[in-house]
Amino acid sequence: GMALERANLFEKYRVKAAYDALTSLYNKGYISELLAGAFEKAASGKEKLSVAVLDIDHFKRFNDNFGHLAGDNILQLLATAMRKLSRPEDYVGRFGGEEFLIILSDTVFDRAMKYAERLRKEIEKLGNLLIKRYPGHALTISVGVATYEPDLKSWKMLVEKADEALYSAKNLGRNRVVGFYSAERKFLP
Ligand code: GH3
Ligand code: MG
Ligand code: MG
Repeated sequence: GMALERANLFEKYRVKAAYDALTSLYNKGYISELLAGAFEKAASGKEKLSVAVLDIDHFKRFNDNFGHLAGDNILQLLATAMRKLSRPEDYVGRFGGEEFLIILSDTVFDRAMKYAERLRKEIEKLGNLLIKRYPGHALTISVGVATYEPDLKSWKMLVEKADEALYSAKNLGRNRVVGFYSAERKFLP
């Protein structure tokens, strides 16, 4: 009895430890573990792998204008949208405060870019629906995409590449997708 009870309790906390409390997406620790696994598969040549890192545009302004609770609500709406738009084999995680990481399983660069662009458009649409509730602040996201290649020696390097692409997307004016795939040496607006 006690052992079973303890096992159940353990399971409960193990599950809890994998999810972000606000959005119910995978938390940073767990999505990182999943990515480490996916990276190993890619490195052994079994599968392709792409990631998308996305960040809300001018979210600080949004919080400042409408309050932190409204901001939390936006994070939840965004999480729901991402879950709806992802395929069953993909993983969506909250990687930082208003930054998310999507693992695109067995996905090549061009398809990852198409997916990211579709996601960006859908969030833009959602932003347009929300504009009545939050006047003067259109919700948009910027996205950085990167694809596995042998130069990248760890999953962290893959995330760094996606971060670089995200940084360019911000600099190019936000509300856009930029991809990094050094085999083709391309940064795509
Ligand atoms: P940029 O377009 O360059 O990304 O601008 P930004 O304002 O989104 O970026 P910045 O990093 O300056 O601000 C991020 C903001 O995200 C600041 C912080 O208040 C907000 N944020 C982070 N986590 C949460 C959260 O859990 N809830 C709410 N409401 N806001 C959060
Ligand atoms: Mg940020
Ligand atoms: Mg931001």
